[in-house]
Amino acid sequence: MSPTDDKWHHLPAHLALFNQITTQFIDTIAQRTVAHQALMQHTLTLSNEGINIDVISQQLQEHIIPQLSASRGPRYWGFVTGGATPIATLADWLVSTFDQNVSKDGDSIASDIERQTLSWLCELFHLPDTFKGSLTTGATAANVLAAVTARQYLGEKQHINVAKDGLFGLDIDIFSTTPHASMIKSLGLAGIGQKQRIQINNVPDSEQIDCDALEQALQQSQAKGKWVIASAATVTATDFDDLITISALCRQYDAWLHVDAAFGIFERLIHGPKGKTQGLELADSITLDAHKWLNVPYESGIFLTRHQQSLFESCDVSAPYLTGQAGNPAFMSLGIENSRRFRAFPIWLSLLAYGKDGIAAWVKNNIHCAAKLANWIADSQYYELMHPCQLNVVLFKPITTD
Ligand SMILES: *Cc1c(COP(=O)(O)O)cnc(C)c1O
Repeated sequence: MSPTDDKWHHLPAHLALFNQITTQFIDTIAQRTVAHQALMQHTLTLSNEGINIDVISQQLQEHIIPQLSASRGPRYWGFVTGGATPIATLADWLVSTFDQNVSKDGDSIASDIERQTLSWLCELFHLPDTFKGSLTTGATAANVLAAVTARQYLGEKQHINVAKDGLFGLDIDIFSTTPHASMIKSLGLAGIGQKQRIQINNVPDSEQIDCDALEQALQQSQAKGKWVIASAATVTATDFDDLITISALCRQYDAWLHVDAAFGIFERLIHGPKGKTQGLELADSITLDAHKWLNVPYESGIFLTRHQQSLFESCDVSAPYLTGQAGNPAFMSLGIENSRRFRAFPIWLSLLAYGKDGIAAWVKNNIHCAAKLANWIADSQYYELMHPCQLNVVLFKPITTD
């Protein structure tokens, strides 16, 4: 069968190949080499006429699949990204089958599912449903939305509509201590500038914001708009900022508070809203990742804000062919893309299938495994534990003998 033979009733034949590749890949994942130095084979070239699916299959098995990382397997411990659960993976396959364009309402239930997903996530994480937003490709994209929403909101207070008129004249000070690299990137992408950040001292031996230093900086700032970027948690040391104190300072000095809680928010599933993330509910905007501890396939982040209007004003443009419906804003007016994948579906199906307890159980187990590893390292004569393991990150280095 030729791949150009694109009749839909031929899809089941492709599914047989899909089934075979998937079964083999998953069955061998625990034994596979975790990481590969890729050796690109140039046995295939771009042709005019295309090639037969059997040749493609053979090339995949010989040259591509053996060189993939085993990132969804049990021995891949890089980063804080997770694997993908069976239900989330099934849902992700179906997203391709359904091929919905979740740009606006009017022809599909998909936008309603995304709204329900956002509201279930707020329920899961004990956040008030005054938080609205949209699903993004990841926490980086959510941080970009945080930057454009904050600049829009702070601009309006200075009678500048940034989305319409640009940043000229905007007067803001941005305060942070250990922002994630993607947050710094977002300041650049949003036209604010990566270097515009004011560095606040950390608490000694921690990546946390020193709240006294923050208060001093807020007090001294002459800027018309102020913006504090906090972390829950930092990605290296897993330190959580004191969000109760910081949010009170933000209220006092009329500053916008953004919290990057990409993976740290899952701590709420263990200790509830009064654990290390206490005060998160008081933020103006929050970044989360679903492709981390929710274990859905990649390109799944979440942006939440109490100021949906500022997000909308940043992202909405009208065009004659894009008229929306009254009521809920269209998702293309709440994010970067116009055409959007049905990315809510894997999250939605996971929440349904595993429930709050099911998700909390794997987070708990992961924390338990990390603690065991940290204890093992602390006792080891070869490695030194560099920071107490607080959640899912184990920081260590080899002991050098010279
Ligand atoms: C992972 C992470 C990000 C970036 O997320 P991507 O999903 O990789 O874009 C941002 N902030 C924190 C705290 C993270 O852990």
